[in-house]
Amino acid sequence: MHPFTYARAESEAAAIRAVSAGGPGARFLAGGTTLYDLMKLGAETPERLVDINALSGLSRFDTSGPRELVLGAGARMSDVAADPRLVRDYPALSESLWKAASQQLRNMASLGGNLLQRTRCAYFRNGEPFACNKRVPGSGCAAQEGIDRGHAVLGGSEACIATYPGDLAVALLAFDAAVDVAGPNGARTIPLEALHREPGTTPEVETTLARDEMILRIRVPATPLGRASTYHKIRDRESYAFALASAAVALRMEGEVVREARIALGGLATRPWRAREAERGLVGQRLTPEAARAAGDAALRGARPGHHNAFRIELGARTVADALLIARQRA
Ligand SMILES: Cc1cc2nc3c(=O)[nH]c(=O)nc-3n(C[C@H](O)[C@H](O)[C@H](O)COP(=O)(O)OP(=O)(O)OC[C@H]3O[C@@H](n4cnc5c(N)ncnc54)[C@H](O)[C@@H]3O)c2cc1C
Ligand code: SF4
Repeated sequence: MHPFTYARAESEAAAIRAVSAGGPGARFLAGGTTLYDLMKLGAETPERLVDINALSGLSRFDTSGPRELVLGAGARMSDVAADPRLVRDYPALSESLWKAASQQLRNMASLGGNLLQRTRCAYFRNGEPFACNKRVPGSGCAAQEGIDRGHAVLGGSEACIATYPGDLAVALLAFDAAVDVAGPNGARTIPLEALHREPGTTPEVETTLARDEMILRIRVPATPLGRASTYHKIRDRESYAFALASAAVALRMEGEVVREARIALGGLATRPWRAREAERGLVGQRLTPEAARAAGDAALRGARPGHHNAFRIELGARTVADALLIARQRA
């Protein structure tokens, strides 16, 4: 284990100052469920951990507002998943949390940490002797010629095809959420859609967040589409597994006809993936099983299979189609 210092921050400003002053080796520490894991694997070697768990303002969440839901970055996944308003009016958000990890992990893990979790690519996690551009920039990508069953079919590059593994960000993307962040140079708001990056030639840069910026809260615009929504997640086993394919879907229906559709994909791309062409294609259509399937195909258009993951293109299209039919029943 790499030596590191630990300090508990007493205010948001103090936490940001401590991470900023700590240089590239400083990290915010929330539930620690993924950061400690990566430290044990040597994939993260921070020199300074700044614990933000005592910041009570960070863990508040309020889903009662008429204009927006406000979810503190420090709120625990299990607490937010069980919120009655979320369960009733935004089932896709609640389900994306319930279907992630295990109850013990959800009790520890924060929403902010969930958004910023890193890929589960085994070559990245295990390191040498495997080449990994994300872990050691410029070293190569073992996954491209290796076992890529769980790797991305959308948004990959020659440098990296690692899948973004989180569930919550996918559901938030479908609802046009944004994150409020603060850093040494002040506060700003980042649309969720602009938070995660495709790998391009720099897969080690995963988000548009500066190293010393802290996520304070997530804001979700209130919308009647929430009720007719679902987060449909397909995985190798029914609990405690990452998505092979997932779809967050929300609908506004007029009778049998779709007036508005939101579709985001998880488990298939290098970042949470919005399927806007598929959304547009549904508007004005009767939502039959055939129309749902056509939307699934549109959502996966442009997907590029590797050696072992072509089956996930068909799986992704079916996942979107099934999600649309589940959401329709809730309209
Ligand atoms: C076995 C296992 C299975 C899992 N399965 C799933 C799954 O199916 N779906 C899923 O979505 N997730 C899954 N996870 C991931 C889990 O949900 C994350 O580990 C967890 O949400 C991270 O939250 P945390 O508070 O523990 O973050 P930490 O580990 O404390 O932090 C994670 C990262 O976020 C940074 N960070 C944390 N909070 C902030 C903030 N407010 N501002 C800026 N940076 C911050 C940290 O510096 C660190 O880099 C799984 C994890 C494990 C170990
Ligand atoms: S897919 Fe990305 S994370 Fe995985 S080995 Fe290749 S460069 Fe590393």
